[in-house]
Amino acid sequence: MTERPMPPPNPLTTGFWDAARRRELVIQQCECGRYRHYPQLRCPECLSATWTWARVSGRGTIYTYTVTHRPFHPAWADKAPYAVATVELEEGVRMVTDLPPEDTADVRIGLPVEVFFDDQGPITLPRFRLVR
Ligand code: ZN
Repeated sequence: MTERPMPPPNPLTTGFWDAARRRELVIQQCECGRYRHYPQLRCPECLSATWTWARVSGRGTIYTYTVTHRPFHPAWADKAPYAVATVELEEGVRMVTDLPPEDTADVRIGLPVEVFFDDQGPITLPRFRLVR
């Protein structure tokens, strides 16, 4: 079985991955208060480079999704069909996730989701599942 490709942490993202390993979901918060994700050097609102990691609830809703029947990578060949969703967190930022297999048939726009943490070797992926 082919391994799932993993994101390589870099100086900008290490805090995100370290928090995930601790079972915490964090996103950047600018000194102006704006949250943002994915990690970026500067705030897209005020252009400040001063920010901190803010722990967030891990709750949100399905903003949109797709169900993949033909995987683009061999690591997912035995998982199809599976759902990939954009989740809108309570804090207003959006994250992309693949949903667990039991959610593929039930996923709908607007349904509530919660974060869970998926250990994949040296990386822990924050992923989301439907709240049931
Ligand atoms: Zn800002």
